[in-house]
Amino acid sequence: MSINRRQFIASGSAALAGAAAAQNASLPFLIGGQTQPLLAKGKVPRIVVCGGGWGGLTVSKYLRQLAPNAEVIMLERHSTFFSCPMSNKWLIDVVDTQFLTYEYLRVSERHGYRFIQCEILNIERDAKRVTTSLGWLDYDYLVLSPGIRYNYEAWFGNDRRAAEATKARFPSAYMPNAEHFALKRALHDFKGGEWVMNLPPPPQRCPPSPYERACLVAWWFKKHNIKGHITILDHKDGVRPIGLGFRTAFEELYKDIITYVPNAHVKEIDPFAKRIKTAAGDLKFDHAVLMAPHQAGDLAWKAGAIGNNAEGKPTGWAGVDPLMLNLKSDPNVYVIGDAVGLVSPQFLFYPKAGHVANQHGRIVAKYIAERIAGRTPKGELPDNLCYMLVNGEPREAIAVQFDYKINGEGIIEQTQLDDNVRRADLVREDFRWFARMVDDLFA
Ligand SMILES: Cc1cc2nc3c(=O)[nH]c(=O)nc-3n(C[C@H](O)[C@H](O)[C@H](O)COP(=O)(O)OP(=O)(O)OC[C@H]3O[C@@H](n4cnc5c(N)ncnc54)[C@H](O)[C@@H]3O)c2cc1C
Repeated sequence: MSINRRQFIASGSAALAGAAAAQNASLPFLIGGQTQPLLAKGKVPRIVVCGGGWGGLTVSKYLRQLAPNAEVIMLERHSTFFSCPMSNKWLIDVVDTQFLTYEYLRVSERHGYRFIQCEILNIERDAKRVTTSLGWLDYDYLVLSPGIRYNYEAWFGNDRRAAEATKARFPSAYMPNAEHFALKRALHDFKGGEWVMNLPPPPQRCPPSPYERACLVAWWFKKHNIKGHITILDHKDGVRPIGLGFRTAFEELYKDIITYVPNAHVKEIDPFAKRIKTAAGDLKFDHAVLMAPHQAGDLAWKAGAIGNNAEGKPTGWAGVDPLMLNLKSDPNVYVIGDAVGLVSPQFLFYPKAGHVANQHGRIVAKYIAERIAGRTPKGELPDNLCYMLVNGEPREAIAVQFDYKINGEGIIEQTQLDDNVRRADLVREDFRWFARMVDDLFA
């Protein structure tokens, strides 16, 4: 049975129902052309937040609380937030659509920042200006939380037709939009045959979630007596994180359904003939979840925020100060969430997780509030916690926790703790974790 929002709130898990009324609630702003100012800037400091996902929602809420005299404007293209966390469970009807979705306008009214639904078109850091589909806005501080984009060019070069066909027919559903609905439809309509899923080279959004998805699709096949087989084509040389927990689930629960293939670097995809060639072998498929390599979202590129590697080539991710999260080249521009680039020679990137984006949002809100108050902010580090459902009946999950500290040389170090033993209490913890996040983002 799926869980809906009302049951979730009634269970006492979320504090949405009792949320305090917003201070200075503001309505979305009105309608101009791209070449006009959208909202004149007054004397108070203005912070423009680009992107209303896990990072953007958090930083907007906490800025309003910690810097009450500042103007906080959050820009986002969608009217409704859709949560990627929990969306694998939604694919197999453990939760319903309402459970994952929240209206931006209601949330912004509750928290008292201004939400403007628009497409962000350009960012001129020299002029401190953001151009949107509704007009331009000047800022004092800019926070970018643009999430990711897919790099289909790595597979198809300039072949737009193949890229578009792959995106439309075999979406990976790693960005919150219509792709999720297309994937759910494909799963519920699947009559049997070969179902292929690939994992791109790291870093990618939510590294354990493709394995969770494979388990839940396999469970769906079992439950509905679908004669399907899943091949996981992993660019990596092994399952990570929570490798033992996932491998045990593949072996014990889905032995005849899931085949895991490591080192399967994608060489060629033909979305029309439904064929994929990899370094570990070639396959024909009936359906596929094809995940092109991930990069920082478009906005980070538009803002000139992408870092360079030692050879001077773009890394694909924002070049930030690892501790303070501002651009190395611009102290007034912060990047949070998945778009953040290299932070440590030990573990390279923070896990690209909603939990981390939420923590970044809290941390950067403090940094900016301190600076507005004329003080020097003290560096803070996030943590990360992630639960993965591997069995639908009985419901059982595994988990992983990451902690961070700074060592004597000023380098951020990561410790990782895998909880590989699948069990029901981790499912309950997962729902409690989501409830805490929902409280923090929306209540
Ligand atoms: C299947 C799946 C399962 C996951 N499970 C978990 C989990 O269990 N736990 C966990 O912690 N994380 C999980 N994640 C990862 C999590 O979803 C991301 O890490 C998180 O969304 C990152 O937050 P963000 O703010 O960086 O980006 P996003 O949440 O993607 O937000 C970016 C926002 O920017 C907006 N935007 C981008 N460009 C523009 C533009 N030009 N104009 C206007 N708006 C724009 C987008 O519409 C979007 O709303 C999962 C992800 C997936 C796909």
